[in-house]
Amino acid sequence: MAESTSWGVNARQCLRTAPLLFLALVLQSLPVSTPTANAADWQAEYVEGQFRVHTQVDPDRIQPAVRRLSRLQKQIEESLQIELSDQTVDLLIFSSQRQYRDYVAPRVPEAVNRPALFVKGPDALWVHVVYDNSWETNLRHEVTHAFLHASLPFLPLWLDEGLAEYFELPESAKGVNRKYSGNLVWRMRLRRGLPTSDLEQLQSLTEMRPDDYRDSWAWVYFCLHSSNETRTLLQNYLQTIQREEVPGAFFRYLTAGYPSAVVTAERFYRSW
Ligand SMILES: [Zn+2]
Repeated sequence: MAESTSWGVNARQCLRTAPLLFLALVLQSLPVSTPTANAADWQAEYVEGQFRVHTQVDPDRIQPAVRRLSRLQKQIEESLQIELSDQTVDLLIFSSQRQYRDYVAPRVPEAVNRPALFVKGPDALWVHVVYDNSWETNLRHEVTHAFLHASLPFLPLWLDEGLAEYFELPESAKGVNRKYSGNLVWRMRLRRGLPTSDLEQLQSLTEMRPDDYRDSWAWVYFCLHSSNETRTLLQNYLQTIQREEVPGAFFRYLTAGYPSAVVTAERFYRSW
């Protein structure tokens, strides 16, 4: 499965600067060949549900997390009330950052220092992840992008990232992302507001700072956990996109249905 073509990278990039860096790319022109490294580089290649797994790590060590991805799919469908595509996703699991870098460098040079990468082609979805202490979180983050990109014709950048930050956690965490929650509560108690239209201005993931990821996650968490009303509004917004209709800017949509959303969200986190 060697391939030698270069990828035409031209679209959205997902970049965050701390604590981990991620990249999601949508490729608009792509080689026909599947971008897997030389077959000899993989310890095993096999199919698990809708995933084609290419791993440099012992399959026994990765298999539990890979199996949990089918539950992740159901969790996303149940939470968002949208139907996810069953399109095949190629999972490329690297044994070290060096192996990942060697593979990614000729294809997506800007992604070489990151632990995970999602790439979308016209007919394929690839998730690249380094096997390290946070690999399952990174895997779930990027596979969430893969599910959403396969199932929705478009998605605002901040919302794409907010949803990935929400679903990257094990289901038992119920969406509470501890890397953001403490800091967010303090900001709310200091009467610093939650941004709305500023998030919607973000066009490129290179623009997204860690605070933007935190605030994107915060809006997703608030909508899904504050009340039935806010949850339904988020679900309706995504369903509208899935029907290939244009719902307009999210915060205008949210506040049209729930005028006190911003004040309620800030109060929600202040009293958390
Ligand atoms: Zn991401």
